[in-house]
Amino acid sequence: TDLQKHFPITAGFFKRQVGAVKAVDGVSFSLKAGETLGIVGESGCGKSTTGRMVMRIIQPTRGKIVFDGQDISRLRGRALRDIRRKFQMVFQDPYASLNPKMSVGETIAEPLIVNQVLKGRQATERAVQLLETVGLRGGDFNRYPHEFSGGQRQRIGIARALALNPKLIVADEAVSALDVSIQSQILNLLMDLKSDFNLSYLFISHNLAVVRHISDRVAVMYLGHMVEIGPKHSLYGEPLHPYTQALISAAPEPKRVNRRSRIILQGDVPSPANPPKGCPFHTRCPRVMDECKVERPVLQEVRPDHFVACHLHQ
Ligand code: SF4
Ligand code: MG
Repeated sequence: TDLQKHFPITAGFFKRQVGAVKAVDGVSFSLKAGETLGIVGESGCGKSTTGRMVMRIIQPTRGKIVFDGQDISRLRGRALRDIRRKFQMVFQDPYASLNPKMSVGETIAEPLIVNQVLKGRQATERAVQLLETVGLRGGDFNRYPHEFSGGQRQRIGIARALALNPKLIVADEAVSALDVSIQSQILNLLMDLKSDFNLSYLFISHNLAVVRHISDRVAVMYLGHMVEIGPKHSLYGEPLHPYTQALISAAPEPKRVNRRSRIILQGDVPSPANPPKGCPFHTRCPRVMDECKVERPVLQEVRPDHFVACHLHQ
């Protein structure tokens, strides 16, 4: 709810704070059990920061993160560790997140041992099971990360994330480094695991096609704001926000029947250190009106469960 993250900008000898980068400025959303919410946007829009705040890797400047009725945004110590077990993250580059000196079996068993869930033989057996769950062989246990392909390494990262039976997985550009054919294998694996393990996903990506494939609902972020959020079919079928319309029109989608003409956005994304007044998108919006430069539009429900922050729709 109303998550904000401002990174201080410091300058000079005394490191006086001279401003704040509003990486995420008032983002609210909810996620149901068993649901996948996709977050799309260009790099720097605040989608990774949002995911990291939900994971409690970084502390929000303001706002709440409520999980099962409990505000977890200020938890510390043991309570925070217990919550962290229920949230796991899958990263873009599995190679960077796997320890090259540990066998993949040890890597998967490690969270079980560290959290004193299982030990010794039982932890090993569970790791073997998890390897099989993600489509690798139990016999791979003693092999090392460098012996696997990128897609296989992502499977290992997923197996490790599953070890503690999480409720939520935050996947940040989880398939972006993979070839297209491998991407769909991993997406299908994630979808199968979602029903088998009753997981929810926060699936963050700049890739609209990937997000469309996996998500139930999709949120679009621009310059630290959520500008549109809605059920996937509604959002991709009839995008309401001019930014979403531009993103979708620019995405390569050969199968599209009614090819919308491509909307080319002018100018660059403004700096989050000096965001525009009013609508964050007004400096680039092809449909900008006078009020857009003054008044910030808020998310409003325009169609069932489909919200947009744009003066055209208020
Ligand atoms: Fe464009 Fe105005 Fe809508 Fe912002 S509020 S997206 S500037 S029309
Ligand atoms: Mg990112």
